[in-house]
Amino acid sequence: MSLIRPFCQITKPIWLIALAVIVTTGGFSGSLLAQSKADTDGTKGAKNVRALLVTGGCCHDYQNQKQIISDALSEKIGDIDWTILHYGDKREIEPDIYKSGDWIEGYDIVIHNECFGGVTDGDFVNGIVDAHLKSKVPAIVVHCSMHSYRKAPTADAWRSLLGVTSVRHEKKKHPLDVVPTDAGKSDPILAGMGDKWTTPNGELYIIENVWPTAKVLATVYSQETKKDEPVIWKNEINGTRVFGISLGHHNETMQDPKWKAILANGWKWAVE
Ligand SMILES: [Zn+2]
Repeated sequence: MSLIRPFCQITKPIWLIALAVIVTTGGFSGSLLAQSKADTDGTKGAKNVRALLVTGGCCHDYQNQKQIISDALSEKIGDIDWTILHYGDKREIEPDIYKSGDWIEGYDIVIHNECFGGVTDGDFVNGIVDAHLKSKVPAIVVHCSMHSYRKAPTADAWRSLLGVTSVRHEKKKHPLDVVPTDAGKSDPILAGMGDKWTTPNGELYIIENVWPTAKVLATVYSQETKKDEPVIWKNEINGTRVFGISLGHHNETMQDPKWKAILANGWKWAVE
C-alpha cells in the first residue's frame, strides 16, 4: 500500500513537530499538550500509517476524547503512528501546526476533532484547506470541527472541505435516533449500524447546506427544525476524501461500539 512508510524515516519528524509546537506555543503553558504515541520499539513500525489528530478548543472533553478516538482506531485499524496535538480550551486558538505551508506533509490522514469557532483569520483557515486539497491527504472531521472557523471570511472554504455548513445545534441535548439514508443503507461505512441507532446522548447539529460534492449517509430527525439533519456523510473534493460525523459531543456516544465502528469504517474509506 502506497501510504505505508518505513518507520525509520518517520520517527524523528513526529518528535520534531511535537517539540516545535510545545516550544512555539509556550504561551498556553499548562493548557497545551503535545503528545506522540509513536511506536518506539522499532519492530512493528514498518507497516504503520501516520495519523495526525488535532484537538482542543471550546466546550468539550478533548482530554478524554483524544484517547477514545486514537484507542478505537488503533484497535480497529491496526498499527498507527499517532501524532496528537491538543491546543488548550479557547475557541480563538489558531493551532500552530497549521501555520507552516507544509504542515500536512508526511501524514496519511488528519483527524480534526477541534472547536475553534472564534478564529477570524481567513488566510489561516485557507492554509488548512489548501494543504488538504493540494496534498490529497484525507481527513476525518468530528462534531465541533463543523463549527470551527465559522467567523473567518473564508469559512466557506473550510465548509467545502467538510462537505456541510452548520453554525448551530439544537438547544436541547438528548439521545438521537440515527437512521441511514438510501445511500447509507448500502454503504460499507454504516455496515453494522442497523436500521436505527439510538445514541446514548447527543447534541444535534443543524445543517444549513450540504455541499454538492458530499453524500449524506445518515440523518437524525430534529423536533426543533422538523427536518432530517445529516449526521454522517462522506465528501470528495478535488480528489481529497473527507469523512464527516457530527455526532460526538458526549464521550458516552463516542464510546459506543457503533460510533467507533463507523469511525473506523470512515477511516478505511478515506485512506483507501
Ligand atoms: Zn458539542
